[in-house]
Amino acid sequence: MAQASLVGEVTQVLCAAGGALDLPELRRRLRVGLGSDALERLLRECGRFVVAARPGAGGETAVPERVVLAASPLRLCRVQQGSKPGCVGLCAQLHLCKFMVYGACKFLRTGKNCRNSHSLTTDHNLSVLRTHGVDHLSYNELCQLLFQNDPWLLPEICQHYNKGDGPHGSCSFQKQCIKLHICQYFLQGECKFGTSCKRSHNFSNSENLEKLEKLGMSSDLVSRLPSIYRNAHDIKNKSSAPSRVPPPQGPQGTSGKAGGEVRLVGCTGGPGLARSDST
Ligand SMILES: [Zn+2]
Ligand SMILES: [Zn+2]
Ligand SMILES: [Zn+2]
Ligand SMILES: [Zn+2]
Repeated sequence: MAQASLVGEVTQVLCAAGGALDLPELRRRLRVGLGSDALERLLRECGRFVVAARPGAGGETAVPERVVLAASPLRLCRVQQGSKPGCVGLCAQLHLCKFMVYGACKFLRTGKNCRNSHSLTTDHNLSVLRTHGVDHLSYNELCQLLFQNDPWLLPEICQHYNKGDGPHGSCSFQKQCIKLHICQYFLQGECKFGTSCKRSHNFSNSENLEKLEKLGMSSDLVSRLPSIYRNAHDIKNKSSAPSRVPPPQGPQGTSGKAGGEVRLVGCTGGPGLARSDST
């Protein structure tokens, strides 16, 4: 099986499973038989996956699990969705309404017009999906990939709420704050206080839920937010730390389409380049 289709298969299996799977389970679910060495090499070298260590079930003494996450430089085009849409289409990013990805466009829901595209099958979007090697994903799988990779899709967490005492931490906006009041360590899977934490671990409390519903998020999406934020945290952590290759982003895409394609489909010039024995 060619590498590109193998990468496509692993991406799909991961996205169908909520964006992440522990390594043995991923191997079990692949339709193609792949030795663990070959799988490890693929994960390491193709630049489309992140392997993160997470505490295993069974408390502090448990062996950490190695979890594989689907990573992608695919984003929604922000230039197109700005107050003056001005993208000429060379962005290699999706022209798609952010609120549609949330579940229901808030403009259409209130009987207004939305000037953003609600279709994935425009020429532009189809070519972007192909460029990123994800044109085989279902809509839900694609949304999962976008949520855990595009930071613009995730509502901001209030940093002030996460400092200081009192029911709103040090947030001076208190109930009026537009950002989410939720424990950031919980979202990183690292809150050591658990259920006795003084900060909220709950997206569905009335304060947070109101903000999320205003964005048009379905209750199904709200219930998946903890794992989405955690996946996003692990992906961001791993892709910015040891590798010298910055994640391609920003509306410019100055290196042009060809450069983008090499990054996306082939192996990145990260750790692979440093090894002269790599074939
Ligand atoms: Zn664009
Ligand atoms: Zn819309
Ligand atoms: Zn706040
Ligand atoms: Zn907490």
